[in-house]
Amino acid sequence: MLAQDLRPEEIFRRDRATGFPLFGSQRLLITGVPTLQRFGNDLRTIMGQRTSATVMTRLGYDTGLAAAMALADMYEFDSPEEWLKSFKVLLPATGMAVERDSQIHFDPENKTLRYTGIWEKSFEAQVWSMFTGGASDKPVCHVLSGIVSGFFTAILGKDVLVHELSCKAQGHDYCTFEARPMEEWGEDPLKIHEPLDEDWLNDEIHRLQKELKQSREVLEKRDQELQRLKTGPEKNRHGIVFRSPEMGKIVELAEIAAPSNSTVLVQGESGTGKELVARFIHKASQRGDEPFVAINCAAIPHTLIESELFGHLKGSFTDARADKKGLLVEAGQGTIFMDEVGELGMEVQAKLLRALQQREVRPLGGLKTVPIQARIIAAANQDLREMVEQGAFRQDLFYRLSVFPLLIPPLRQRREDILILARHFLSRLDPSHPGFTPEVVRRMQAYHWPGNIRELENCVEYAYILSSREPIHMRHLPISMAEKPRDIFDDLAGDFPTPRELVRRYARHVLQHTEGNKTQAARLMGVSPVTLWRYLNQEAET
Ligand SMILES: [Zn+2]
Repeated sequence: MLAQDLRPEEIFRRDRATGFPLFGSQRLLITGVPTLQRFGNDLRTIMGQRTSATVMTRLGYDTGLAAAMALADMYEFDSPEEWLKSFKVLLPATGMAVERDSQIHFDPENKTLRYTGIWEKSFEAQVWSMFTGGASDKPVCHVLSGIVSGFFTAILGKDVLVHELSCKAQGHDYCTFEARPMEEWGEDPLKIHEPLDEDWLNDEIHRLQKELKQSREVLEKRDQELQRLKTGPEKNRHGIVFRSPEMGKIVELAEIAAPSNSTVLVQGESGTGKELVARFIHKASQRGDEPFVAINCAAIPHTLIESELFGHLKGSFTDARADKKGLLVEAGQGTIFMDEVGELGMEVQAKLLRALQQREVRPLGGLKTVPIQARIIAAANQDLREMVEQGAFRQDLFYRLSVFPLLIPPLRQRREDILILARHFLSRLDPSHPGFTPEVVRRMQAYHWPGNIRELENCVEYAYILSSREPIHMRHLPISMAEKPRDIFDDLAGDFPTPRELVRRYARHVLQHTEGNKTQAARLMGVSPVTLWRYLNQEAET
């Protein structure tokens, strides 16, 4: 999961039985800003400014810590950075503030963090100016500082403290803050962990503290946030929706190939969208306004394929009741897309080769040849080169077709695209559908998608029909998907490797999957290349 893919309305939900607002599975309490103002004032009066600031910060700290852990339970983040960045995405949905201009220096390996940024519209600064008037001599956003401290502490795995450097309540345009590990600030100036002097705390404050800890304004600015997230960095070019660099490369190559007249060979597993890429090339070429003729070579009986492609004259065989132009000619100045070209028989392959070499066809039963002007895009879901080696496909035809080869990776090798495609298909069915639950997102991202994009599209449509405008739950998924994946430890049987050995085997497994590409493997595992290197090279424990 990437931070930018989080959708607050999928995280802040309502319990169907009670109507209570929920954050993941945690119950939330909606409290108005005036309540907090009164609480803050009372606290300052009873305890003085310094201690009340500490209480408010501690309150935020526990909330932030719990929120970070709950979020990690909901989603598998691609990396600790993405987990860290998720705070900024979710902050507006809590009604507390909007963060901008963040500068992040984060090294999860060495547990170092320096995070600076700006809070706009902090609720605490707003409360101050609404009810107190005048400029404060100190920053006032204590709960907010505490929440960010707690949230980052969970991620870094050691204490982080946020200092508010300047505050809107002091008369500035906005608040600025800086987060660092606690040790870098010197002692714990806000006593986040130390017990407070009991004298300061009467029962009433305990009660209010508990109440405030759970309080949130959750559903405000929901539409605003939704709009903001909709314009994410995903790309849609002529219907090809993607974010992965792998697919970006394919689109880039297709754009380069489009204006030429070269024959293109699109290869990829079934359901990866080969025809979409062919249409993209057609549209982006000068032939874009001419016909796009598609033929699936596997769907037409062997006896008819010749006349489909090359045409026939009346009476050339029993069923030939009239002259027929072949598709190669019918495509005119346009593009002919020949899918599953690996299914062509040897005889047709020979004729196709001749037609491509001479740029003309002779219809069945005819003597005169007709010129071909169309551009040819072929596609196959088998590895044609392998078929050539096995003698099942003509080598000369293979070279003639693969002037410009494109290999579309299967969906499981570009997991970044799964969620945006799923959302794309869902919004095409219903733009205002409430989306997927976190469990479903996790399942979709972990699933291996043997049927690729077509299977994903069918799955979304199936779930959409069952969900009847509710968020899509696990129970709405097709059975093939809802099944729990097999336990990965089944294969270990009586073998009990040490955790280090297990990590080493796992790293090798992922590396095999990426065909030795270490950067890609590290990205899949959510670790740095250095960590991957360490995994691979660690010696077995003795
Ligand atoms: Zn402030």
